[in-house]
Amino acid sequence: MSEVLVLIDHVDGAVRKPTYELLAIAKRLGEPSAVFIGGADQAAGAVEAVTKYGAAKVYTVEDTEIKGYLVAPKAEVLQQLAEKVSPAAILITSSAEGKEIAGRLAIKLGSGIITDAVDVQADGDTVVTTQSVFAGNFTVQAKVTRGTPIITVKPNAAAPEEEAGAGAAEEFAATISDAAKTAQIVASQPRKATGRPELTEAAIVVSGGRGTGGNFEPIEGLADALGAAVGASRAAVDSGWMPHTFQVGQTGKTVSPQLYVANGISGAIQHRAGMQTSKTIIAVNKDDEAPIFELVDFGVVGDLHAVLPAATEAINQR
Ligand code: FAD
Repeated sequence: MSEVLVLIDHVDGAVRKPTYELLAIAKRLGEPSAVFIGGADQAAGAVEAVTKYGAAKVYTVEDTEIKGYLVAPKAEVLQQLAEKVSPAAILITSSAEGKEIAGRLAIKLGSGIITDAVDVQADGDTVVTTQSVFAGNFTVQAKVTRGTPIITVKPNAAAPEEEAGAGAAEEFAATISDAAKTAQIVASQPRKATGRPELTEAAIVVSGGRGTGGNFEPIEGLADALGAAVGASRAAVDSGWMPHTFQVGQTGKTVSPQLYVANGISGAIQHRAGMQTSKTIIAVNKDDEAPIFELVDFGVVGDLHAVLPAATEAINQR
């Protein structure tokens, strides 16, 4: 069985959840091999973590210089590894960093690239991806026809599968060129801790729109009861009620959680573009003709300021 390389997405050795989702997808395509690229003495914890999610092998490259540089060294490491093991596919998280690594890698390998896949399946020896395109108006299936398929996958495209893998760690001796070290990270600001999951990675997102009237307490209360991230429509962001980092939609973030709860949001096409691939959608809106009800699995017609506190209380009592 061919290896499928999964680039470990981590912060100083702490593995992020999308990596486990990629390992679950890799199992469908071949033998999952994780790749750790990071600073010195950071790999051990990551190897242990990915082994619990089925990594049969973990290639490690620990180098203080890689840690301090932007994406170019990672693309070089993956190129050298791909040339050595000829994987069936290379899977990378669809983050800004992941997509830049994937793009550079595709050029280096002369391979095709598919970004923002929401599903990846094997069709015999072919890797077939599903993407949601043109503001979510079309779902397309695509495959790479040249070289090694390089695929970036959106968070929440698969459920992580806990399963002990062999996790055989193998140090990979990569050579980093001087050209890859031309952009250095001089400072990084950790995200302010909110205790809530990151919006694009969260399994549940509770969003609020203009209908909140600027009071996000009911939204945040329900989000905390569900262990969810908080999102917002552009109307809420433009009104100054929430920062732009919370905006879901065409000019905000794209989310694809297991559950999306839209509150006081009308369902404009630009908002839908950022959330309509969510697995289950619930809307609370006082207008029973709001367009958001066209795409929901469950709809509640009512005032969010009454519905959400009642739902939050019921959940907290469980
Ligand atoms: P509204 O459309 O005003 O809807 C408010 C809803 O709240 C209504 O349906 C109302 O019935 C309901 N409501 C009111 N009070 C209550 C209550 N007490 N309880 C329950 N329901 C209540 N929008 C985005 O969201 N994300 C984007 O990324 C984005 N990008 C855009 C890019 C472009 C180029 C353009 C032109 C627009 C973009 N928009 C985006 C804006 C988008 O077109 C809509 O204007 C916006 O999504 C509307 O936000 P909203 O649903 O919160 O507000």
